[in-house]
Amino acid sequence: GNKNINAKLVLLGDVGAGKSSLVLRFVKGQFVEFQESTIGAAFFSQTLAVNDATVKFEIWDTAGQERYHSLAPMYYRGAAAAIIVYDITNQASASFERAKKWVQELQAQGSESYFKPPIGNPNMVMALAGNKADLLDARKVTAEASTLDAQVYAQENGLFFMETSAKTASNVNDIFYEIAKRLPRV
Ligand code: GDP
Ligand code: MG
Repeated sequence: GNKNINAKLVLLGDVGAGKSSLVLRFVKGQFVEFQESTIGAAFFSQTLAVNDATVKFEIWDTAGQERYHSLAPMYYRGAAAAIIVYDITNQASASFERAKKWVQELQAQGSESYFKPPIGNPNMVMALAGNKADLLDARKVTAEASTLDAQVYAQENGLFFMETSAKTASNVNDIFYEIAKRLPRV
């Protein structure tokens, strides 16, 4: 039969990477050019049907500012999935470097030495989103090189990678759909 799955999902990544815009696109099908900065975190939910299951995502959209960093564990604790977002147009790959730090932190929470289960989740489904794919010309590195870097990084660290655009909606539903497919069926 068709399973109902509730999945806590957290969005992490540098401020301005497009976390809130991805959520707004996924949940409401909208995009705004001047998205307000998130304060603390915001909660959303959206349901998605995949082949064998109906997944209700309980989404925590975090702020990304360093001064809110200490709050982050409240949002990723017990999460079944995470989307780590970076801005592909960001100079000197600072946004990508920040994304890698988040991946490290999530990997640490999944290992028993950091938080004991069931708080940490070693089986968290993690997606890496290279966002603002509509702004190809603004990229600082060539498209192929940066995509390859991210793809290799994702593969080596147990994530899957997609380039997304909250503006054009490219790969937005797809990244949530891919997560839904990978969630453990209990
Ligand atoms: P957050 O801080 O990670 O939540 O980032 P926001 O969602 O607030 O987005 C920061 C800025 O980038 C806003 O002005 C958005 O309109 C813009 N933005 C977000 N996603 C995209 C995208 O895919 N393409 C373009 N061109 N702009 C985007
Ligand atoms: Mg935000």
